[in-house]
Amino acid sequence: MKYPKIIINETKFLNNIKVAMQICKEKKIEVLAVTKGFCGNKKMAELYAKAGIKYFGDSRLENFDVYSDIKGHKQLLRIPSLSEIPDVVKKCDSSLNGDIQTIKTISEYCILNKLKPHKIVLMIDLGDRREGVLPNETMKVVDEIIKLKGVELIGLGCNFGCYGARIPSDWAMKEFVDLQHNIENKYNLKLTHMSGGNSLSLHLVWENRMPKEINFLRMGFAMIFGTEDMYRKTIPGMYRDCFRCEAEVIEVDYKSSMPVGEAGIDAFGHKPHFDDIGDIKRIILNIGKLDTAFDAMYPRDQDLKILGGSTDHLIINANDSKINYKVGDIVTFDLDWTSLLYLFNSKYVEKVFEK
Ligand SMILES: *Cc1c(COP(=O)(O)O)cnc(C)c1O
Repeated sequence: MKYPKIIINETKFLNNIKVAMQICKEKKIEVLAVTKGFCGNKKMAELYAKAGIKYFGDSRLENFDVYSDIKGHKQLLRIPSLSEIPDVVKKCDSSLNGDIQTIKTISEYCILNKLKPHKIVLMIDLGDRREGVLPNETMKVVDEIIKLKGVELIGLGCNFGCYGARIPSDWAMKEFVDLQHNIENKYNLKLTHMSGGNSLSLHLVWENRMPKEINFLRMGFAMIFGTEDMYRKTIPGMYRDCFRCEAEVIEVDYKSSMPVGEAGIDAFGHKPHFDDIGDIKRIILNIGKLDTAFDAMYPRDQDLKILGGSTDHLIINANDSKINYKVGDIVTFDLDWTSLLYLFNSKYVEKVFEK
C-alpha cells in the first residue's frame, strides 16, 4: 500500500451525479459534467458516463484525449487560445467563447480547412468579471458572429462565483434570457444551448428560480462535494465525503512550537508567523505542497491542527488528539476544491477507487 493517496468512493460519487441529474431533469436541464478537477483521470470520466452523463466539459484540451472514446458532447470551458484553435475544433464539439477576435479566427480556420462550422456558446459577463461580453455589447458582438461562416452560434453562457465571487441574481438571469430572446427575434434563429452557470447556480433550480429557457448547467463541484458555495450545506440526498486523502506518519516528535534561531524566510519566500505555545507533540506526514493545498485539507481527527509544512512534508500539532499516533499510522483528510485539484494532478499521489 502506497501513501499518500486520494480515495474515490464510486458508489457515493455515482449517487451524487444521479441526484444532480434528477434535480435538473425535473426542470428539463441537462447536466454538463465538468471533468477538469480530475486532471485527466479517465476512470472519473467513465463514472460520469456510467451515471448517464452525455455532455462533458473540461478546460484543458489534453484531458479530452484521455477520454476521447467515451461517447458524448465535449465542450471546452476555458475560452480558446489562438494557439490551440486547430485542436479545439478537432477535439471539441463546442467551446465557450468571450472574445470576438478569437471567434473570427476560429471561423477563418474552419473555412480554410473546409471543416464544418465550429459550435460556439457566447459567454455573457453578468457581473463576476471573468470571461464574456457585457450585456450592453452583446447585440453588437452577435451582429459580427452571425456574419461568420465558420462558426455556429448555438447558445449563450454565464458564470458566477469564480473570479468575482458573485452570486446569481434573478435580475441577472432575466437579463440573460432577455438577450436570448432579442437575438432569436432579430436573427430568426433558435439558441438551443442556454448554459445557465456552474454548481453555484444549482440552487436556483430547486428554488424554482431558474428561467425556463436555461437547459444546461456546467457542474463539477456540487457533485464532487455534495454541497455548493451558496449555502455550503449538504444537498439533500448527496454525500459530502466521496473523496478523501490518506497520508502516512513519518515522524512523531515532541518539540518547541517556536522554531529556534534568527527568523528569516521559509522555502517559499514567506516570513511565517508562529505562536509560542510551548513544547508540543507533533506528527510529520509524507505529503507536501507539491501534492496538495494545506488550507484545503481537513483532518477527520478534529483534534489535529495543521501547522504548515514544505514541499514534501506536512506538520501537524497532535498535542490535543486522543489518538497516540505512531510512525506508520495513517491520517485521513476531507478535501476541498484546491486540494482535490492538486491531489489528482500529483503523480506522487495514488488514485484509489473503492466501491
Ligand atoms: C470549472 C468550470 C465550471 C464548473 O464549475 P463548478 O463550480 O465545479 O461546478 C463551469 N463553467 C466553467 C466555465 C468552468 O471553468
